[in-house]
Amino acid sequence: MKSRSELGLIVLAILLLVPQSSLPAQSASPRLLMGFGAEGTIKELAFEAQLKQLVSASSARDFHRYFTSEPHPAGTEQNRKVAEYIAETWRKQGLEDVTIREYDVLSSLPREVSVEMVSPVAYRAGLREDAYDVDPDTRNPNVRGGWLSMSASGEVTAPLVYAHSGNPEDYLVLKKAGIDVRGKIVLVRYSNPYSYRGFKALTAEREGAAGILIYSDPAEDGHKKGKVFPDGPWGPESHIQRGAITYDFIVPGDPLTPGWASVPGAKQIPLSEAKSLPKIMAVPLSWRDAKPLLEHMGGPVAPKAWGGGLPIKYRLGGQASVHLKVDLDTRVMPYYNVEARIRGAKHPEQLVILGNHHDAWEYGGVDPSSGTASMMELSRSLGILLKQGLRPDRTLVFCSWDGEEVGLTGSTEWGEQFEAELRQNAIAYINVDSSTSGPDFEGSAVGSLAPMLVESTRSLQDPATGQSLYDAWKKSEQRKRKTEKNKEPLTDTTLVDVRIGSGSDHTVFLNHDGVPVIGLEFDGPYGVYHSAYDDFYWMEHIGDPGYRYHALMSQLWGTVALRLANAEVLPFDFSSYASKLREFVQEVAKKPGAREHLKFEVLLKQVDEFEAAGRELNKTAFAGLELSTPEQLDKLNTSMMAVERNWLNPDGIPGRPWFKHTLYAARYTYAHLELPGLTEAVEKRDWETAQQQATILESATAKNTKLLAEAAEGLRSSAQGLSRGK
Ligand SMILES: [Zn+2]
Repeated sequence: MKSRSELGLIVLAILLLVPQSSLPAQSASPRLLMGFGAEGTIKELAFEAQLKQLVSASSARDFHRYFTSEPHPAGTEQNRKVAEYIAETWRKQGLEDVTIREYDVLSSLPREVSVEMVSPVAYRAGLREDAYDVDPDTRNPNVRGGWLSMSASGEVTAPLVYAHSGNPEDYLVLKKAGIDVRGKIVLVRYSNPYSYRGFKALTAEREGAAGILIYSDPAEDGHKKGKVFPDGPWGPESHIQRGAITYDFIVPGDPLTPGWASVPGAKQIPLSEAKSLPKIMAVPLSWRDAKPLLEHMGGPVAPKAWGGGLPIKYRLGGQASVHLKVDLDTRVMPYYNVEARIRGAKHPEQLVILGNHHDAWEYGGVDPSSGTASMMELSRSLGILLKQGLRPDRTLVFCSWDGEEVGLTGSTEWGEQFEAELRQNAIAYINVDSSTSGPDFEGSAVGSLAPMLVESTRSLQDPATGQSLYDAWKKSEQRKRKTEKNKEPLTDTTLVDVRIGSGSDHTVFLNHDGVPVIGLEFDGPYGVYHSAYDDFYWMEHIGDPGYRYHALMSQLWGTVALRLANAEVLPFDFSSYASKLREFVQEVAKKPGAREHLKFEVLLKQVDEFEAAGRELNKTAFAGLELSTPEQLDKLNTSMMAVERNWLNPDGIPGRPWFKHTLYAARYTYAHLELPGLTEAVEKRDWETAQQQATILESATAKNTKLLAEAAEGLRSSAQGLSRGK
């Protein structure tokens, strides 16, 4: 083995080969990557440099053109073809163990959907998007009209009520105004901040409404925001936000197999027992379709805050009646996940999983085809390196999920099927849903992986400015904080969003299997989400002309995956995790009544100890890295992998047993929810449950502290042993 100083010179030489612009500002003197020794750092940077060179924006564009060539919602023949194309391409690229996995799950496709106002005037909603000459894809007869997957089917004529965002507090306002929504049809809007449409549907169902219409107000994603399609990124008057209303915040995946995989022969529960299945009819509307309804609504004037971007007086309802018909073909259909591997050279059993879904509401230009294109470009590049003999130490698993849009279905079934293996062997799951709707990077991760994510962005280059992705990320975060009037100081530890909600395929990994997750996305103005205008034209002319951010995503995704796959000591920082955990605890403690009824001192002390153990392990592990034998490193890494699993409570959180993670879950709106069991109990002022949940957190934290302390102790004694032996 070479001495450290010699290696330092080689690291310096390698770093000098990296373009100046991609050098981190702080690293005037070369530094080791998290989890790598000097030799490992050199090898890793060389691997990454070769990958970065191979990634091509024009090739990413070609993939994107393929995925956006035809509409392909889950359960359609076209989407099966997409799955086969992905499998075939991966085989050609040289990936290993390419497999298509079929799951037979409950799904729905539209037969007939109509919305008609019957009084005070007759009017029939178009439920179709306009075609534009500049974009031939808008003329494709295969584009479906507006519909919401998993809506109940039926027919009703009933009075119309305007219920603002359709959140519970909106119904309180209606009650105060003397308006009863039972048996009526509510008209609500897609809202900002985002609240999942399935939560709006469940809320309307609980309030006793007969149906729900959800429209896109121009104040949220249309002309009030800026130029509309095809001249700009925002939604034009006829754009419709499709989507599912599945209650997957209760339990995601196939509604008929809650908690187990829909493999052939699997037990299915009766439809009537499926908790995630809506019982209400729901239809999405463009604002052009909604405007006549709002104009003829009648009744009391709505509160000022309920007004939207249309030049009309918003009213609560009293004069309009609507006939609603929804006929969906809802039955068990086949979904197809595609899976491929690059087997690890040293630890083939250990898995770094990269996932993206391929089903789309229509073309899915941003969501998800941008991510699918970035994934295929990454696998193409890694396939070339594999042929040249470059293979990562751990296995990379590429997963292309089906039915994410319906209920996070493909990933959930897979995560349930391989639950035991994942808990044993998964290092991390890296999710990219939409990869690109603009240039602003947004990274999320569990607390332990936040520092390695930040580090990964330092060696990449933002194509627009030429500065490092790290610097570009910081600048866009600063701008965002300014507009949001967020005073939290911007540091490396606050760059990463460590508050992880639901709404994409990371959910089963984090919340059910206890696998650490990372999420990556480039963001920008985007008002055509889930509409037919989210297509190739939008991307090529507006979202990412030149496909440079698609390519940057391939590079970043690859960099993060390779570091996790090649690190000698897994790049987890548990002291960073502990400091986030402390914030979570302090936030719950501030909730009304919490301090009076619960003692947080014990939990906070446990968190302090976990932080100290994490800090100690960082020191011992990284300092002792080159003195350690492979067996010692294996043992250490096994301990590190166990930490995330230890946050799982086999009973799950109260009322939602599928959600097993005690630090992370999502609210019904999909919004992030930290310390879910404790937080929800405190918010309900159920102090007995809150105390039980606090105790569960205390013992999980203590268990992890012990685990880290033993791992550090193991390394120290072996290091002493080694130095005595010299
Ligand atoms: Zn998506």
